[in-house]
Amino acid sequence: MNRYTSRRRVLSLVPGLAVAAAASPALAGAATGGSFVVRDVRIFDGHRVMERGSVMVTGGLITEVGGLSRSSRHQVVDGGGRTLLPGLIDCHVHSFEGSRADALRFGVTTELDMFNDPSALPAARRQRRSAAKVDQADLWSAGIGVTVPGGHPLRPDWDFPRVVADTDIERFVADRVAEGSDFIKVIFEDGGPPPRPSLPTLTTGQVRSVITAAHRHRRRAVVHAEKLQLALTAVRSGADGLVHVFWDTEGGPEDIAAIRRSAAFVVPTLSVVDWGTGAKELLADARITPWLSATQRHLLQQQPPDRPGRPDFLKIGSANVRELHAAGVPILAGTDTPIRANANGVSMMIELSHLVRAGLDPREALVAATAAPARAFGLADRGRIAPGLRADLLLVDGDPTTDITDLRAITAIWKNGHLVDRTPPEQERAPQLDGH
Ligand SMILES: [Zn+2]
Repeated sequence: MNRYTSRRRVLSLVPGLAVAAAASPALAGAATGGSFVVRDVRIFDGHRVMERGSVMVTGGLITEVGGLSRSSRHQVVDGGGRTLLPGLIDCHVHSFEGSRADALRFGVTTELDMFNDPSALPAARRQRRSAAKVDQADLWSAGIGVTVPGGHPLRPDWDFPRVVADTDIERFVADRVAEGSDFIKVIFEDGGPPPRPSLPTLTTGQVRSVITAAHRHRRRAVVHAEKLQLALTAVRSGADGLVHVFWDTEGGPEDIAAIRRSAAFVVPTLSVVDWGTGAKELLADARITPWLSATQRHLLQQQPPDRPGRPDFLKIGSANVRELHAAGVPILAGTDTPIRANANGVSMMIELSHLVRAGLDPREALVAATAAPARAFGLADRGRIAPGLRADLLLVDGDPTTDITDLRAITAIWKNGHLVDRTPPEQERAPQLDGH
């Protein structure tokens, strides 16, 4: 696709913007955030829906919401028939070169990385504090997750520190914090059932020690657990959140109540157990395909290797999401990209559809992708449309608070108040990480 024509296409979808952009010095400014007004638009503020209002952005920050008290010389975007939302937050990704740009082009303005090389973290921290025009999502990261030799994730190509029997856990966690980990990710995964191999994992005592050390360092501790019993042990050990839902078996009322009592949140990542059905749906959607990079398309086309006799993880996981949500457990949206036919940004569209099928209403699914993760992870400057917050915004045709698939009809994305160019890059970059 020609860069010039596709840029024109974006602008032509926003009446008034092409003209106003030329007249507005703020939009061209690189060092500070952009300024504009979206008028007469349905507003989903991260919690509630206002059927008609306006939002003013000045210097990259949201300055007014609802009825505007001041006039301005900002460019005006007509919101008629559209919905304005906070930029989406994907609570479970693994980044690689170019992945955060892919995310941003689908309205995911913030990503939480759940296991990765910590070398990119100082730059990520600088970016997320700035209001500059950027071409990629902001990032928070666990850095290196806590696991054991031979344990999940299996990464023979990467020699990262792991916990052994005599590891000083306090020191181990302190090292992660020194590397820049924003939160601590614990891998509690014993593998199996056959033909999947069983795997060594942390002891219950080690899990508890890691969580305690994380809290001493004022870091949240989140746990990878795909099985009910491991999930229960994790929350009883003080975990702040589970970054998959358990999908080995349906939890009973006592199990669900125990998780509720723990106050832990759950990031279900149902898109990683749909075995590519969600990816097929995206690849057949004309609202999606023009904006896919070669890398996103490649990832969505992967057919995950299935296992004969595999339980229906999506069905079991969805039933657990339904019960957890009904009990009041905070549900947060996350995709686990690029694992199993998931791609950054775009797969959030499927994850939110899965959450709606599991029993959240569309507005609740949007809360799970905006205000709820901001609250759960302490991201105070984003996740809602409110005065003083960062202007990470998404404008879509229709009303995703009643039909979640309307989220796919993106009209405009702003990061720090700057309009995002959705033109996909043509070159493919292979993701490096294969575990989760
Ligand atoms: Zn993962």
